[in-house]
Amino acid sequence: MTEPTDTSRRKFLKTGAMAVAALPLSTLVHQRDVRAMAKAEDGHAHDYVNDAADADHEGYEDGQRCDNCAFWAGESDNGWGECHHPDFSDVLVKDEGWCSVWAG
Ligand code: SF4
Repeated sequence: MTEPTDTSRRKFLKTGAMAVAALPLSTLVHQRDVRAMAKAEDGHAHDYVNDAADADHEGYEDGQRCDNCAFWAGESDNGWGECHHPDFSDVLVKDEGWCSVWAG
């Protein structure tokens, strides 16, 4: 009566090992995709600037930056990261950047 348990355990261990082996590969693939993305230039959309200090917009308030915006997806390449806002889906934005749809 121990056979079903052994089979289940083997299946569980095999599945777990495959999942662990696949994780680094998926991470590497994601990294490659991010590095291939263009970096946003000033004016990309919504008065975006790579340095919040250059924001010349009535909606800007001191301290607002991409890396404390609700759309920030996290740094992935030397201060550059993805933004979840659809108008920035094809570019990386700078951690210290800003745009007029900043959300706290
Ligand atoms: S939505 Fe937020 S994270 Fe995206 S570019 Fe604008 S300020 Fe930066």
